[in-house]
Amino acid sequence: METITYSIKKDDKNSEEYYKDVRAFTKEVLSQAENSLKPIAKEFIDYLRTYKLEEIREIEEYVLELLSFGILWRSYANKALKVKRAPFITLARMSEWRKKHQQVKPLIDFIRGILFTFFLLPKVHNQSHPPIPKLEQIDHVCKWFEATGEFREQALRFIRWRAFWGNLYFEDLLKNFYSIEEFTNWFEVRSKEALGKYTENVENFIQRSQKFYRWREDRISCTRTRLEYHLNMVGAELMNRAFRSEYTGTKTKVILVPGCMRGRLPDKCEAKRVKEGLICEGCLSSCHVNQLREMGKKHNFEVYIIPHASDLSLWGPAKDRPARGVIASACVTTLVEGGWELKRYDVPAQCVLLDYCGCKKHWHRDGITTELNIRELKRILSN
Ligand code: SF4
Repeated sequence: METITYSIKKDDKNSEEYYKDVRAFTKEVLSQAENSLKPIAKEFIDYLRTYKLEEIREIEEYVLELLSFGILWRSYANKALKVKRAPFITLARMSEWRKKHQQVKPLIDFIRGILFTFFLLPKVHNQSHPPIPKLEQIDHVCKWFEATGEFREQALRFIRWRAFWGNLYFEDLLKNFYSIEEFTNWFEVRSKEALGKYTENVENFIQRSQKFYRWREDRISCTRTRLEYHLNMVGAELMNRAFRSEYTGTKTKVILVPGCMRGRLPDKCEAKRVKEGLICEGCLSSCHVNQLREMGKKHNFEVYIIPHASDLSLWGPAKDRPARGVIASACVTTLVEGGWELKRYDVPAQCVLLDYCGCKKHWHRDGITTELNIRELKRILSN
């Protein structure tokens, strides 16, 4: 089968080996973080407690935030710092509008694609590693992150870290940034050794597709670096651990899958439209969504097909309904952002990666039907 950027289903077998590899590597990441990122995260937790800024979360989440900061700073800071003027606020609002108003999403996306290339992605920028951050540079880069719509959740978290860093003495601040940089260097090398066999096509794909994505709104999302793929793979694991206890407390479970998992083209699929998305009507026995629906009857969960960038606040707790445990499935490039968004809406969530990407809208001319690892799904359901 054709691999577009990543495939965790190596050699057309199942993705069981990937899940072993990613768990082992995540364990290594946490142990490596013990004397570098975790002490910073603990200081941050003290700061949050002192000023009562948030309910304290699991330490894995803070480690992931620091690692994300290091990697996203490395991947985008030079570009973002080169952009002096742009309609930052309008672009950030547009990415929210497209979630709330699906009927005008194609028009908004068309305009965003043009504005991205005009304003947010300079043709020429410094290719070397960006400098150690200054606080005002973090403010600017966070503004850029929000404007892209791709890193809104990360930006919301980094802004809180920025407030913490603003309270530190200069020497301590530098120590924080050097630790993050050193950890990012380590992760860049080790993640390629541990997970690189699943992401071998990413760099080739980016090279080949630069022109194709030039004026498109998914330009950033579809040209993520290989390092970001590795970050999101580990990120999905860390999130599952951090969100586990909230999720296990829920009685009803729902699985959210993307439209690219359907066995038929959208105009032939007979799924019924409801407020939250689409519900499979079982028109094709070999369809992966239908198979999940059948499995749901035995294991007591519902399945919804949701479009990319849909409004996840719909899954939050409501007065007339107990909290539902949500298992979201998506491709590597969008899963972590989605997980953090669900967390912001108080949704007890877990995630399962799509074994590979393939949707017609973003990745492939004809579209490749996607799938997820059923054994991994069962592990999440039964733990
Ligand atoms: S089986 Fe369900 S999801 Fe698959 S094509 Fe038919 S209605 Fe759509």
